[in-house]
Amino acid sequence: MEKEILAALKERISRQNWESWFIDFAVKKIENNHVIFEVGNIFIKDRLEQKFGKIISKVVRDFLGRESSYEITYREINNEPSNNENSKGALIKKRPLLITPLNPKYTFDNLVVGEFNRFAYNVFLEASKNPGYYNPIFLYSGVGLGKTHLAQALGNYVLETDPDMKVAYLTSEEFMNEMITSIKKGTTEEFREKYRKKADILIIDDIQFLIGKKAAQIELFHTFNAIHEAGKQIIICSDRTPQELKDFHSRMISRFQMGLIVKIDLPSKADLYKIGKKILELRGVEIEDNIIEYLVQVYDNPRLLHGAILKLIAYKNLFGEMNLSIAQSLIPNYNTTPKTFDEKIIIILAEMFECSSEEILSSKRTKNISFARKIGMYFANKYLGLSTREIGKIFNKSHSSVVQNIKQIDNALKDGNLVIKNYLKELNQKIKRFAEGKSV
Ligand code: ADP
Ligand code: MG
Repeated sequence: MEKEILAALKERISRQNWESWFIDFAVKKIENNHVIFEVGNIFIKDRLEQKFGKIISKVVRDFLGRESSYEITYREINNEPSNNENSKGALIKKRPLLITPLNPKYTFDNLVVGEFNRFAYNVFLEASKNPGYYNPIFLYSGVGLGKTHLAQALGNYVLETDPDMKVAYLTSEEFMNEMITSIKKGTTEEFREKYRKKADILIIDDIQFLIGKKAAQIELFHTFNAIHEAGKQIIICSDRTPQELKDFHSRMISRFQMGLIVKIDLPSKADLYKIGKKILELRGVEIEDNIIEYLVQVYDNPRLLHGAILKLIAYKNLFGEMNLSIAQSLIPNYNTTPKTFDEKIIIILAEMFECSSEEILSSKRTKNISFARKIGMYFANKYLGLSTREIGKIFNKSHSSVVQNIKQIDNALKDGNLVIKNYLKELNQKIKRFAEGKSV
């Protein structure tokens, strides 16, 4: 029976997929009308369930009848150090670590330091002189506030001052992709070696990408432990705090917390201005100061500022001119147009959730857009005291959907959802600044 089931399955799956995903797929047991399959690791299990669950279920039913079911189990990863250390030692010397290229512009010199990032800057500078001293370092901030820049600055500094050091910088997404490839190619051993044994400094950026990706979390956890135990430096960058990494195992979260946790705040307008000047200086382009002053009024975030400056530079290169009114028409200042809280809330939400005001007011149900709406409705109700009818008008939604949305947020908060809490806090701060007549 086992063989028949596998053969029937193989018939329905393309050769390429079979070779990639089913290479060690086996029937472990058949109990009555329940089949237990087994694969090499949890990652393959997840993928098989997602990608081929329907086909597997259909084949099982063909054999065992309509009521039958199946499950996929996996073999636990064996983390024991392998016993042929010597041969591997030789290998390390022959094959240096492949380093993810760093952006040469991301240096400490090119980073504007102000109150908003001074602590983080000092910690990273110190760590680049004494890797492993603070370990791990967990860096978090809102998007676009300079985490990647700072982390790579450390990498650049270390490589420059000590070329023997092996720095591995990669995003958690790249880490996961590399893991997938290694599983497909059957080179997991090499993949593990690369990070667990050969990196002196491992920087994992955008860790929040691994939310919901259990297999990669587990793999990273083992990597983390191996590197940490060896006294090598680990740096994790995240757009949220360790506690907010929902669904990460508590063991992992406490690992992140056992070192130093550093945060970058929003820069002041004066700091943003310096950042704008720096961005121009690095590109060797001159743009009048009053234009930068204007941009700083529009944005409170270095990444958005950076994007706006690139837009102006592109225009200048193309048409050979640039002045304040051109800048204003290319980059309208929505901060000054809204007169009421209602309009302002929508604009702030659009900014926070990277969509347009029109989308928030539309009937689109894209995940981040409906989430933005819910947060906004809840905020308008609980923080600004607006009635659900009024909110319906502002958001262009039916009364019942307003009530429902508010309730959902209410429930999530009762369950201790910190992400939502932080969004509300951020929204509140921005609205407060607006009320005080400052640009947001
Ligand atoms: P994050 O990783 O936090 O999302 P990035 O490091 O990608 O942010 O920063 C976004 C952009 O803003 C980059 O081009 C970066 O060089 C620039 N930037 C951010 N903070 C600073 C700063 N303090 N000084 C100079 N440039 C900065
Ligand atoms: Mg980043």
